[in-house]
Amino acid sequence: MTPNNSPHASERLELKSNPGEVLRMLLNQEGFRVTEQRQKILEVMREVPEGDHLSAEGVYQKLTENGEKIGFSTIYRALHLLVDLGILRELALSEERKFYEFCDPLTEAHHHLICAQCGTVQEFEDATVLTLGSNEAINRGFSVLDCQFTVHGLCPQCAKAGQVVG
Ligand SMILES: [Zn+2]
Ligand SMILES: [Zn+2]
Repeated sequence: MTPNNSPHASERLELKSNPGEVLRMLLNQEGFRVTEQRQKILEVMREVPEGDHLSAEGVYQKLTENGEKIGFSTIYRALHLLVDLGILRELALSEERKFYEFCDPLTEAHHHLICAQCGTVQEFEDATVLTLGSNEAINRGFSVLDCQFTVHGLCPQCAKAGQVVG
């Protein structure tokens, strides 16, 4: 991934308010077509409440509920393209669970606690993570595209259930 693949800071600010425009610009820039399906996927992602995350299955469900005729593989490929363009961030919660959210690392950096049992995701903010990541990157001559910290564990419910069973 070259730095050119990532939106500039000013473009990122427009992402949530006008994702369609940003998508059009980025796709054109990279030589991809702006399809109705890619725009609809972005619309679905925009409607996800703050702090929530959608899987490819979740996107598929929402689109088919809305009466869209779209194949799962089309969604899957589109999500990957949006990740490559720096519009979405992929959260690999486990091998079979991948979730997507808007990627806006510099304006609203947040991190994730993930339950390995039930897949619950909680977000938290901590400026020290970004400071640490940026310092490390600068020291090694990297420019930061994304800085995201993931903690894997058991949520209180699952930890409790595990104790009862064990
Ligand atoms: Zn998140
Ligand atoms: Zn859990």
